[in-house]
Amino acid sequence: MHYDYLVVGAGLFGAAFAQRMLETEKSVLVIEKRDHIGGNVFTEEVEGIQVHRYGAHIFHTDSKKAWEYVNRFAEFNRYTNSPIANYHGQLYSLPFNMYTFHKMWDVNTPIEAADIIARQRHDSGILVPTNLEEQAISLVGTDIYEKLIKGYTEKQWGRPCRELPSFIIRRLPVRYTYDNNYFTSRYQGIPIGGYTRMVEKMLSGIEVRLNVDYLEDKAHWDSLADRVVYTGPIDAYFGYCCGPLAYRSVRFETEVLDMPNFQGNAVVNYTDRETPFTRIIEHKHFEFGTQSKTVISREYSQEWEPGMEPYYPVNDEKNTALYEQYRALAEKEPNILFGGRLGQYRYYDMDAVLLSALELAEKEKEGTL
Ligand code: FAD
Ligand code: UDP
Repeated sequence: MHYDYLVVGAGLFGAAFAQRMLETEKSVLVIEKRDHIGGNVFTEEVEGIQVHRYGAHIFHTDSKKAWEYVNRFAEFNRYTNSPIANYHGQLYSLPFNMYTFHKMWDVNTPIEAADIIARQRHDSGILVPTNLEEQAISLVGTDIYEKLIKGYTEKQWGRPCRELPSFIIRRLPVRYTYDNNYFTSRYQGIPIGGYTRMVEKMLSGIEVRLNVDYLEDKAHWDSLADRVVYTGPIDAYFGYCCGPLAYRSVRFETEVLDMPNFQGNAVVNYTDRETPFTRIIEHKHFEFGTQSKTVISREYSQEWEPGMEPYYPVNDEKNTALYEQYRALAEKEPNILFGGRLGQYRYYDMDAVLLSALELAEKEKEGTL
């Protein structure tokens, strides 16, 4: 059988693109090198709890289009992300808000908190922040930077904060209200029944072949379709010809515990440098689980090496420039489109990935009709 599209990767990008093309009556084959669909949002049931195998995923978006799209395939619960930071046993609320400032400085009002931050910013002498450290101190002052940002960020990215781009920290909101909601997004929740079930619905009616690595027999797979959408790592596609891009990988240590409640919250970040993991996820709290057991995952961030899963693109200057070389090569490749977090080497959230897949599908539809 010959297909209109071959989609490489059954993650959110591949699934949304395939779903949309099927809707426009194109024939699509999806191939996936793992033994399951869903990419990094994959969830599996353990002890009746949906476990996020590749890290905690909280869907949040400001886009009505993205929200309505996912609600076609799943019903979402009312989960609101409110992580806790643990710094040497002291607990602080995240994101940075009046509860954090109260605990840090024993202040009660926004004016008192803003004064302390302004004083610390002034004392640091930073006028225009040029890296993550300076950006963080400008936003929240030196105390919060030292206790809640520096250690976590350096563990997460394996690089000094002064060598990291400031946009990473701009994702973290700072508010002068008593509000522990991590996200400012209009819509937020977790799909009831797990992400895998949601992606299954997106892929319903589409042929999916698992355990297939496209790059191992590219010519064969290319011959099966008119056009290819590739959502794997862009540098791997080109045989790393310009050199490997840097990624951060994560090692998950998952345990079933014979107790109903381990940490009382879905996400606890360990922000000191000494604790080797970055955070502990207790999966049942994403869905208000009442099971007698619980499942936790410790996350250890590490530099990606061949054979590991590439999770986070490292969008520093060097790697952004290298990615540009790959992008130029990608533009010259006939009949192949690159999408998703790895294909575009971008720190994309789920909603952004979905919107970009839907946009690509729209363009393809216009181009081919
Ligand atoms: P992926 O999910 O990586 O899918 C790509 C697929 O392609 C994979 O299944 C892979 O196996 C397959 N593939 C690769 N190469 C080949 C090949 N050669 N042949 C065949 N198949 C191949 N976003 C949020 O909005 N909220 C969150 O809370 C959140 N938390 C996150 C936590 C972590 C730890 C990580 C890493 C990401 C998080 N994200 C979050 C981002 C989210 O995971 C991504 O936006 C989304 O999963 C990207 O989908 P994708 O399809 O681009 O990539
Ligand atoms: N961060 C931090 N302390 C925290 C949580 C996050 O310094 O307790 C910083 C860190 O640099 C991280 C960035 O904020 O990379 C974004 O964090 P978020 O949890 O939003 O990112 P995710 O890992 O979910 O993509």
